This record gives sequence, C-alpha cells and structure tokens, in this order.
Amino acid sequence: MKPDVIIVGGGLIGLASAWKSRIKGMAVTVVDPHFGKGTSHVAAGMLAPVTEAHYGEEEVVRINSASAAMYPSFVEELEEASSQQVGYRDTGTLVVAGDPSDRAALTELVEFHQSLGLDSEWIAPTEARRLEPSLAPSIAGAILAQGDHQVDNRRLISALIEANRRAGTELITGSVKEFEVSKDKLKGVLLDNGARLESDNFLLAAGVWSNTIPGIPEPVQPTVRPVKGQSARLHFTSASHSQGAIFPRYTLRALVKGVHVYMVPRESGEMVLGATMEERGFDTSVTAGGLYELLRNARQIFPGITELELSETIAGLRPATPGNLPLLGASGIPGLTIATGHGRNGVLLTPLTAEVISDYLTKGELSWVLEVCSTDRYKQDAQSG
Ligand SMILES: Cc1cc2nc3c(=O)[nH]c(=O)nc-3n(C[C@H](O)[C@H](O)[C@H](O)COP(=O)(O)OP(=O)(O)OC[C@H]3O[C@@H](n4cnc5c(N)ncnc54)[C@H](O)[C@@H]3O)c2cc1C
Repeated sequence: MKPDVIIVGGGLIGLASAWKSRIKGMAVTVVDPHFGKGTSHVAAGMLAPVTEAHYGEEEVVRINSASAAMYPSFVEELEEASSQQVGYRDTGTLVVAGDPSDRAALTELVEFHQSLGLDSEWIAPTEARRLEPSLAPSIAGAILAQGDHQVDNRRLISALIEANRRAGTELITGSVKEFEVSKDKLKGVLLDNGARLESDNFLLAAGVWSNTIPGIPEPVQPTVRPVKGQSARLHFTSASHSQGAIFPRYTLRALVKGVHVYMVPRESGEMVLGATMEERGFDTSVTAGGLYELLRNARQIFPGITELELSETIAGLRPATPGNLPLLGASGIPGLTIATGHGRNGVLLTPLTAEVISDYLTKGELSWVLEVCSTDRYKQDAQSG
C-alpha cells in the first residue's frame, strides 16, 4: 500500500515532520542513507532567538521566537514518546565582548534586541563574571539573554528516531536517486538500490542536498547553498578540574575582535565549540587554521578551555537561503512539499517546522509561518536582489 507521504531526508527536519504527521494520522515513510548524520549531527544545539537576531531579519526573529516558545512542550512530548532524555537546558546565554570595540558593537546590538521586544540586557564585566566565574578577567562586558536555551541535538535525533519507530513510521535506509515527475506531477522516487516508491505526497527535507537530486525541474528546486561550519567537541575531565578549570554554566557566545565564537556546555561535561562560516561548496574538511581561530578566540573569553580534553573535530554544511528564512510549503509541483533552508537555526526551528508542515500535509492548513517562508516569497527575494 502507498504511504500517505514519503519524506526524503531524515535529519531533524524530516524526522520531526514525520513524527508529527504520523501522530496526526498519516501513514509515513522516511528515506535517508544515514539517518540523523547530516548537518543535524554537527550542530551545537543552541536555541537562540535572541542571540541569533540580526539586523534586517525581523521575520527570522519572529519564527525563531515562535519555535523557541514551543520547545518545552515539544521536548516533554518527545521524551515521553521515546523514553529518552534530550538534554534540554534553560540556562541562559551570555554574549561576551572581548575588548572595547567588541563592546561598542554589542551594546548597539542590545538596543536592536530591545527594539524588537527581546529579552536582552547589557551587563558590566564584574556582573558577567559573578554570574559566570569561568570568564576571563579581561572581558569588556556581556549581553545577558536569559531566554536563549540549548538542547543536545544528537540526543534529539535519537529520540525522534525512536518516537517514529514506536509510532509506526517506516524508516527506509537508502538514497533517493531520482524524482519521477510526469505531467507536472510528482509520481514516485527511485532509490539507489533500484526500488521505486510511490505516493500522492512527498516532502523534500534533504537539507543542503535538497537541490542535488535529479528530476525536479530547475525553477522548482529550492535554492539552498552550503555554508560550512567547523566545530569541535571537548570534555571537562577530572584532570581539567585539578588544573583549576571551572566548567561554564551559561552558553557562552562572544565577539572577539569582531569575530564570533561560541561554547555550549552540556550537563555531561561536553562542550561544543564553534563555528566558522565559510562559503566553500560541499567541502567538509576540518582545517588547522579554522580550529586554531576557534580555540584562540574561545580562550580569550574562557581561558580554562585549554584544560579540556579535545574529543572530536567536525565540519558541517548549513542549508542557507538568501534572506535566511527557510523554505516551507508548496513547491509549485502538485504533490511536492518543501521543508529546507533552515540555515543556522534548524535545531531551533524543528518544533515549529514539524507542526506547520504536518498541519499542511494532513489538513492543507496554511499557517502564517508558511506564508512568511513560502517558496514564492523566496523567489521574490531573489529577484529583488
Ligand atoms: C557547525 C554548525 C553548527 C550549528 N549549530 C546550530 C545551533 O546551535 N542551533 C541551530 O538551531 N542550528 C544549528 N545549525 C544548523 C542546523 O544544524 C541545520 O539547520 C539543521 O540541522 C538542518 O536540518 P535538516 O534536517 O534540514 O538537514 P540535515 O540534518 O542535513 O538532514 C538532511 C538529510 O537528508 C539526507 N539526504 C541527502 N540526500 C538524500 C537523498 N538523495 N535521499 C535521501 N536522503 C538524503 C541526508 O543524509 C541527511 O540526513 C548548525 C549547523 C552547523 C553546520
């Protein structure tokens, strides 16, 4: 029997959309060669509607804030459905200024945050160090964003796979080689093992690879491009402790001589350090220079980082769009819906995307989010520059 929907791509976006659609009554199949091992595996897990607010991106802030508000109940429901914990932490975020010029940029940013009604305040160096004793004495102050939280994205993937299994979603390990479009309607997909799958509905959620699969006419393809991010995982060990290092409680972001760096501390003692922003196509190499820059800038803010054990280096590809809004909803081809282009905020946008996409697939419901993130809107953006 044909499933009601076939989802191409089992990262956070595909898996969460699958789970919600399944709960709402659809028969769902997801296809992915390596479930959860794409960009979602590399992410740091920051849930940062405030500290990811950039000038001119008010609509991005709006959807990011809406998704952040959904996180606590999404996590509660998922943890119950999967019997797994996902490491959601509501400790806030500090954005630290490395020197006086960084302070000037950040105090201006606080004004922008406040003009959007976001919970953001400037705090002096002594107050920042009182809240977070692991910070260097040389810092020039910080933004306190109490509402920016974090989740362990790898545990989130694992919980979504388990919740899907329990709910009866079909998870097929394989790669879609081609979309079969006939008479302007999407009929089926061909897999690399020769199998052919049919449905009346398809969801394209293949992240940065969403426009690399043959068969979809060029004007309909989502225009996502890869933005590379290098990152590292470190661990606070008993040796770190005996060397006097203090493990941070807050998520630390910083501007160091105009360059961004972040450190996301997990309860387990893991810390995610990231991330570069590089336009280098599909290259995922980790370079000595990339890592050096991250560690050097991080040490300015949190000197204790040099005592942590380095356990992993990795690079991933953010599925970016012009304007930095995701592409959600109807594609222009009957039967094909799109959910991709989540750029820097795909972990944060997982609950909102899953909700609006599953409502659209099950009931044809068009929320304000689909209007803001429609593929048509993107095309207008592209035409205007
Ligand atoms: C260094 C870094 C740090 C980040 N930190 C954060 C953060 O702190 N907070 C945040 O909100 N976001 C963060 N992001 C962004 C976030 O990771 C992405 O927006 C999000 O993971 C995108 O999810 P996705 O499901 O669309 O893509 P993916 O996770 O890449 O999933 C796409 C899936 O499609 C599959 N696929 C590809 N081709 C095919 C095919 N032909 N057939 C079938 N399946 C296919 C892939 O195997 C993959 O599993 C970060 C990204 C990077 C690189």
